[in-house]
Amino acid sequence: MKQEIQPVFSQCNEPLSIKYIVLDCPLYVNSRSILNKPSSMKEALGEHNSHLIHIP
Ligand SMILES: [Zn+2]
Repeated sequence: MKQEIQPVFSQCNEPLSIKYIVLDCPLYVNSRSILNKPSSMKEALGEHNSHLIHIP
């Protein structure tokens, strides 16, 4: 059986996921305050934050 490799965020040695970056990683605490410190992905990526998220 092939084992899934969990990517690790090298900056802090934590399992890398969108959720981790958006909600949990202390490195992004400042960026998170722009999104009004969301407590869930739904909140972070909600309508009220859509004007704050810029997709290049
Ligand atoms: Zn982290």
